[in-house]
Amino acid sequence: LNRRLAEFGTTIFAEMSALAVATGAINLGQGFPDTDGPEEVREAAVRALREGRGNQYPPGPGIPELRTAIAVHQQRRYGLSYDPDTEVLVTAGATEAIAAALLALVEPGDEVVALEPYYDSYAASIAMAGGTRVPVTLRPHVEERASFRLDLDELRSAVTGRTRLLLINTPHNPTGTVLTRAELAAIAELAVERDLLVVTDEVYEHLVFDDAEHLPLAAFPGMRERTVTIGSAGKTFSFTGWKVGWVTASPELTAAVRSVKQFLTYVSSGPFQYAVAEALALPDSYFEEFRRSMLARRDILARGLAEAGFEVFRPAGTYFVTTDIRPLGEKDGFAFCRALPQRAGVVAIPNAVFYDDREAGAPFVRFAFCKREETLREAVERLRAL
Ligand code: PMP
Ligand code: GLN
Repeated sequence: LNRRLAEFGTTIFAEMSALAVATGAINLGQGFPDTDGPEEVREAAVRALREGRGNQYPPGPGIPELRTAIAVHQQRRYGLSYDPDTEVLVTAGATEAIAAALLALVEPGDEVVALEPYYDSYAASIAMAGGTRVPVTLRPHVEERASFRLDLDELRSAVTGRTRLLLINTPHNPTGTVLTRAELAAIAELAVERDLLVVTDEVYEHLVFDDAEHLPLAAFPGMRERTVTIGSAGKTFSFTGWKVGWVTASPELTAAVRSVKQFLTYVSSGPFQYAVAEALALPDSYFEEFRRSMLARRDILARGLAEAGFEVFRPAGTYFVTTDIRPLGEKDGFAFCRALPQRAGVVAIPNAVFYDDREAGAPFVRFAFCKREETLREAVERLRAL
């Protein structure tokens, strides 16, 4: 492995899923649902396969039906209008979109300001681009330790003359934080003032709970022209194996990301693109029902973890709960997660892997709740016996 990437071995998700398989433990580590998405969407993929749509290379930017469906979705949900021909790009999941965007926009030596804890592919993609990551740490809220919050002063002081772009993620993996209107407005102001590009990962846009609201950063004043927005069908439709993601951005930014994308995968997921085009056109009731069912699961897991003695940060979005293990007399999330399959038959993720400052992340552990209710209840039962 070259020097830029030497620190990135195997991703924690592969490591912990392998541990779950080896021990037979309940896997609340890697974030994938244990129930596939809507039957009619699966059927749409089968139909495309049978009818020979997408079995050969689809068009480089994605099939027109899907690009149009993505543009309609952004318009209908957020009032953002994108031209499907020049401002939408289909990618091999959000993962490729993140890598292609950073490879396209970052020069070696540029600084990329990213929220910490950060999804692991951000750090690797910044490194591949030869950039330097500058983390801004979300910290447990001092008054009520129920959530992780962004310190806007810290964000402002992280920006230097070498900063090229801000890499934002809301709803945020792993903390479940959903950035508020005021926070997003401040990020937008900063980006405009310092003339920065913004890459915003909004793959959990449909998973927001209670009174939280997902607001796309591209909708804030001055942002549309400088923002690359990333979405994914994996999370919204529970087909994480299909790897259909997308970018919406200005024609210039879209063209830049497309230039890189064509040499990473060129194209992917032919028949699945047709199915996702249909999925995006599902009625609002689908999205509402999906959200409600994940909310019920969040409540089962969050309540259960609290009863088992964890300190629980109540997520306003995503399908993850971050906990603090110190009330259990533990302090090292890595050691805790490595031992947990043997001790309790459950797999979780140590948040420290998402931090440059491993010390700061040490006591936090993430559990996924995108699982059947009975599975979550069983996991909680096991954890109570700790
Ligand atoms: N961004 C975030 C914040 C994620 O949690 C994930 C993983 N689900 C991805 C991107 C990758 O998404 P995809 O599976 O579409 O590549
Ligand atoms: N996004 C998923 C998670 O955070 C994992 C995806 C992956 O394994 N790359 O759990």
